[in-house]
Amino acid sequence: MYDQWKNKLIDQLKDKNNILLKTETLAVVKDAYAKARHHFLILPFDESLDTIYDLDQYSIETLNEMELLAKNITELMGNKEENYKIGFHSDPSMKRLHLHVVSKDFDSPALKNKRHWNSFNTEFLLPIDKIRNDLNKFGVVQKMSAEKIKDLLNTPLKCNTCNYVPKHMPDLKNHLLKHADQYVKLNT
Ligand code: AMP
Ligand code: ZN
Repeated sequence: MYDQWKNKLIDQLKDKNNILLKTETLAVVKDAYAKARHHFLILPFDESLDTIYDLDQYSIETLNEMELLAKNITELMGNKEENYKIGFHSDPSMKRLHLHVVSKDFDSPALKNKRHWNSFNTEFLLPIDKIRNDLNKFGVVQKMSAEKIKDLLNTPLKCNTCNYVPKHMPDLKNHLLKHADQYVKLNT
């Protein structure tokens, strides 16, 4: 089918060998195209939750559980929570709601372009608090305009640790190596 790739995350859940950790309601899988040394996705088993836009005020419990599991993963990795970006993409491409837990080194061959970078390093990545606030206030997650999404994904590159302004992606990737070990040491 035309958009079968959108279901690849759901397919991952069907094979328990792909599940690193699970609770009654949630599973943790490795991102197949990890954008950093550590990159996990937390997904609910609830088949009615395709994206953040399917959440409602009754989903806050699920959201709280996802948040707790994200913290647990960073601890299990022997790392600090502040070494990770934790959030949802505002315009997700894959089905089944998934929370990204990605280490801030962003040292990975799969991190290839500005869009990849900005999807984790701008407001395009929605923190759990923002989702919870929207659900409390409006009962649904507010959608960003297509124009804002475009602007965010086009934001000029900037290092996430210092003030360095790279000339292009290869320059940024090379620069990130200077900071990477402060977030995740290799072979951990
Ligand atoms: P999003 O833009 O939030 O929908 O991100 C989808 C994520 O799923 C990306 O980080 C991809 O690298 C990841 N991904 C794509 N295909 C797979 C797969 N088969 N198994 C695990 N992760 C995947
Ligand atoms: Zn820097």
